[in-house]
Amino acid sequence: MPLLILENQSLQPFNTFGFDVSARYFVEVNTVEQIGEALQFAADRSLPLLVLGEGSNLVLAEDIPELVVKLAIAGIEVVEENQEHVLVRAAAGENWHGFVQWCLEQGYYGLENLSLIPGTVGAAPVQNIGAYGVELKDVFRYLEAIDRTTGKTVTLNQNACCFSYRESIFKGASKNRYIITHVVFSLTKQASINTSYGAIAAEIKRLELAESPLAVSEAVCSLRRSKLPDPAELGNAGSFFKNPVINNEQFSTLLMSFPDIVSYPAGAGSTKLAAGWLIDQCGWKGYREGQIGVHVHQALVLVNYGGGSAADLLALAERIRDSVRNRFGVELEMEPGIYPTPGRTG
Ligand code: FAD
Ligand code: NAP
Repeated sequence: MPLLILENQSLQPFNTFGFDVSARYFVEVNTVEQIGEALQFAADRSLPLLVLGEGSNLVLAEDIPELVVKLAIAGIEVVEENQEHVLVRAAAGENWHGFVQWCLEQGYYGLENLSLIPGTVGAAPVQNIGAYGVELKDVFRYLEAIDRTTGKTVTLNQNACCFSYRESIFKGASKNRYIITHVVFSLTKQASINTSYGAIAAEIKRLELAESPLAVSEAVCSLRRSKLPDPAELGNAGSFFKNPVINNEQFSTLLMSFPDIVSYPAGAGSTKLAAGWLIDQCGWKGYREGQIGVHVHQALVLVNYGGGSAADLLALAERIRDSVRNRFGVELEMEPGIYPTPGRTG
């Protein structure tokens, strides 16, 4: 089927903030071959490319003067299995939560703590999605991607992806280089659950469920629905800032001035601070200015009440960063990407 390339397409339905910007060119791709055709279209016109999943981790700040390629490749298959383990290959355009549910239905475990995270399978490795004590890297085996520098399909394993806390090479050194087409997960058929993240165990109890991977998933969904705004009702991109990781020396100094500071050990010599707590302490929770604001229940989530602008949102984010820096001496880093990327050429 020939590619249907649209011009001046509104991206409002394609980003969870609901910002009304448009793409110079827009195409939805359903096969790996179509990605190749889209790359050729862009190359012929010297157009840069923005790869889009479900738009739940980006800020579309202005009209996008590029070719926006929405990944919609579908398909889930078992590629290897024995009595205890299974390798499942999922296409980039599959909805993440739908994939998690499919795995649970088959009796393939390991993804339950990552239930109800918005977005696609293909975007999941980009920031090594994480929640409730589990990260994508814990169940990741390898991924397939098109390397835009050669046009060839490559396979990247754990080491090549350089996963760390909400990071990978796809956000860092190899930004814009790879288009992820498939991800392969290593899951278990033994029902072993991870409730180490405090709220899960309490929620399973509250819901009167017997402990199981399905119960973990239900508890996580219940917690998320109670705490987080649904982007279908209130524009947002989840956590707007990452939890800052600082060295233990800086942490000891902070602790003297702020004995209630919320923190967690983060590996050798480091401590993770809860960014939501820092922002809340600066008085931002529930703050609203026009159509933009900070969520009433979760200070880490910036929201668009409808009709707000990305410029106003980014200006508010800057003021939040300034106040956290002034009060705590801690630098907040944005989690979603901003597009178009200033100064980008390809
Ligand atoms: P998009 O926003 O479309 O894209 C994100 C980035 O990935 C962009 O840079 C894009 O170019 C790139 N990209 C997308 N697809 C591909 C591909 N196939 N190949 C190469 N690059 C690609 N995140 C968490 O980690 N944990 C959470 O618990 C969590 N909770 C959230 C809750 C809410 C309410 C919301 C709105 C967001 C939350 N997020 C969370 C953020 C978001 O859901 C994830 O980052 C998700 O993986 C983004 O998927 P997406 O398909 O929407 O990606
Ligand atoms: P929460 O339970 O209120 O906890 C606040 C923060 O403290 C979290 O950011 C979490 O860090 C940290 N934390 C809590 N218990 C911890 C533990 N036992 N060990 C280590 N760190 C702990 O968080 P929440 O806002 O309701 O979110 C719940 C989970 O969903 C978190 O894992 C969060 O990352 C994830 N989430 C992510 C996004 C996003 O867009 N990235 C949006 C919503 C929720 P971590 O963030 O490192 O887990």
